[in-house]
Amino acid sequence: MNLNNPITYLKGVSNARASLLSSELGLSKLNDLLHYFPYRYIDRTKFYKINNLIDNNSEIQLFGRIIELKTIKQKKGSRLVGKFQDETGSMELVWFKGHKWLKDSIKINTPYIIYGKINYFNGNFSIVHPEIDLVDEYKKKIQAKLQPVYSSTEKLVNSGLSNKMFRGYLQDLLLQIFEQIQESLSEEIINEYGLLGKRDALLNIHFPKSPEILAKAQYRLKFEELFFIQLQLVRKKLIRKNKIKGYVFEQVGDTFNNFYNNYLPFDLTNAQKRVLKEIRRDVASNAHMNRLLQGDVGSGKTIVALLSMLLAIDNGFQAAIMAPTEILATQHYNAIQELLEQMNISVELLTGSSKVKKRREIHESLENGNLNILIGTHALLEDKVKFRNLGIAIIDEQHRFGVAQRSKMWQKNELPPHILVMTATPIPRTLAMSVYGDLDISVIDELPPGRKEVKTVHRYDSNRLAVFNFMKQEIEKGRQVYIVYPLIQESEVMDYKDLMDGYESVSREFPSPKYQISIVHGKMKPADKEYEMQRFVKGETQIMVATTVIEVGVNVPNASVMVIESAERFGLSQLHQLRGRVGRGADQSFCVLLSSFKLSAEAKTRLKTMVETSDGFKIAEVDLKLRGPGNIMGTQQSGVLNLRIADIVKDTAILHKARNTAIEILQEDPNLSKPENKAIHKTYAEIFKASGAWSNIS
Ligand code: ADP
Ligand code: MG
Repeated sequence: MNLNNPITYLKGVSNARASLLSSELGLSKLNDLLHYFPYRYIDRTKFYKINNLIDNNSEIQLFGRIIELKTIKQKKGSRLVGKFQDETGSMELVWFKGHKWLKDSIKINTPYIIYGKINYFNGNFSIVHPEIDLVDEYKKKIQAKLQPVYSSTEKLVNSGLSNKMFRGYLQDLLLQIFEQIQESLSEEIINEYGLLGKRDALLNIHFPKSPEILAKAQYRLKFEELFFIQLQLVRKKLIRKNKIKGYVFEQVGDTFNNFYNNYLPFDLTNAQKRVLKEIRRDVASNAHMNRLLQGDVGSGKTIVALLSMLLAIDNGFQAAIMAPTEILATQHYNAIQELLEQMNISVELLTGSSKVKKRREIHESLENGNLNILIGTHALLEDKVKFRNLGIAIIDEQHRFGVAQRSKMWQKNELPPHILVMTATPIPRTLAMSVYGDLDISVIDELPPGRKEVKTVHRYDSNRLAVFNFMKQEIEKGRQVYIVYPLIQESEVMDYKDLMDGYESVSREFPSPKYQISIVHGKMKPADKEYEMQRFVKGETQIMVATTVIEVGVNVPNASVMVIESAERFGLSQLHQLRGRVGRGADQSFCVLLSSFKLSAEAKTRLKTMVETSDGFKIAEVDLKLRGPGNIMGTQQSGVLNLRIADIVKDTAILHKARNTAIEILQEDPNLSKPENKAIHKTYAEIFKASGAWSNIS
């Protein structure tokens, strides 16, 4: 028997059962089963006495004898009842299925260990469908004090696959292949961290001899799991750095210096300076830059992007920024035009609504090299857009990141341009390490000086009138206000109704002509949306009632109040993004979170977090803890969701060790060819054969 054999090699696993195990749990080879770890353990060191039982529905273990078995007719079918007795009293064991087999196999008046959930009815204790083991048989099993419990599915349970059978399979398997289990880490790593060997780890994760050794087994297996993921990520990064050449921006030239010394409207923050240095170091080496720039809304990413583009121009290259929406692209274009006003640099905007004539001009000046900077939407990816020599492409993903098809932009290039992806969604460090561990990451973790924190409060619906009064005061001072309603796909009709009801009550409270209100929602035509948006941008309306469409990058510095209706229905990152719409001007800004009185514990935590902090990274950490990595945007394609035992949120210390170890090993032995790394090499190759990562190097 070897670990690549199908599960049917085990006694008692029929073809039908094997195919169910495969479709339900993805277990097809013996090795899969070996790595299917219990999700909890039952303490089997503890025995109860019948006269001490209490009615608490817990799982208990008893030692005694079955002294009588009888079948009792009921309305439908019958039940089998055993009288079970220890030296302190007696109780009932009840079965509704499998009578014949049980009747034949149960030995009367013989010592048994029984296990199950306690029931209390009519003054009697009973256990329905208990696990029963003859004491003699039980002793022959792998002696586990903590008994494993495997997660199963309804289909598997209905097909008769009990947890006891699961344990039986694993016991069989371990007894037969124990000697064949190969070490997957090097001796050096095992010694350095005092890890359990692979065999002992696997044996004890399934059948732990003690809580202490279980903890060691878990640690070892978590380390191993995270280590091989990091090994792959770090290796990918090394390959990129060593093998993929990039353009070298050797000099910091006149364009950059002129702008920096004469037209930069403010001093850069330390974080901006640091990030710029990181970028300069990348583009001056002859490797290809692939960098993720994270920075909260308002942290000043645009200027970093611009300065990076000026570096490219200084070295004879063109530059581009691509944004996810037309509004955002236009905003970038306007901001950059203004900053470069006094300089002799050509900048153009290309979006879906650019006129044909303009397009032609742009295409031409791109190809002949007259155009320095092109800003736009996905229109930049069209076939006709051909740069003469694109040196850097900046992708502003805002909060919808994901790796798009980008290579079209540089089809004329000899080498790929340097890539800088900007995102406003802070990703917790550990998650970033696991999801983007192969990219370089820069973080702007400091807001420009003088920024006033948005004052955030949580109010219940019953206080709405006070909130309206507050809005009136602010409008009186000349400010503008957003009121946002949730938009959640499943209940679109309801959401729409909520929005319209809200709009009506706002209209009543803020009557025209004194007050003017814009409304924007998903059911409107784009042209109407744009019209309403523009009225608000121009200050013709004081209130903007909207669904979350305004999330994506509207910049109205005069808007200083954000009221979020049904705030308990929004996720943390959404709330954070929405709040980022205010606090952009010089005035004190406010965010009011309105909610109903009844809140789930999670909703309470979300609202409390928003009130307490405006640090996007802290908010992201809480979000990750509340929702787990699976629900955080951007994680879907990464391995963190398929972890068997490690947990990105809880096992951060192990993650750091695993990553550092991977870096150390690859620095000394990039191809894992040294004899001492043989075990690692072998495992790595097995794990990642399918992904093709290996072939890149060897
Ligand atoms: P984001 O990171 O959200 O893209 P922006 O680049 O749009 O942020 O910057 C937000 C605002 O802050 C802009 O008005 C910008 O001019 C200003 N800003 C950026 N950096 C600084 C700085 N170092 N000092 C003062 N203001 C700055
Ligand atoms: Mg921005």
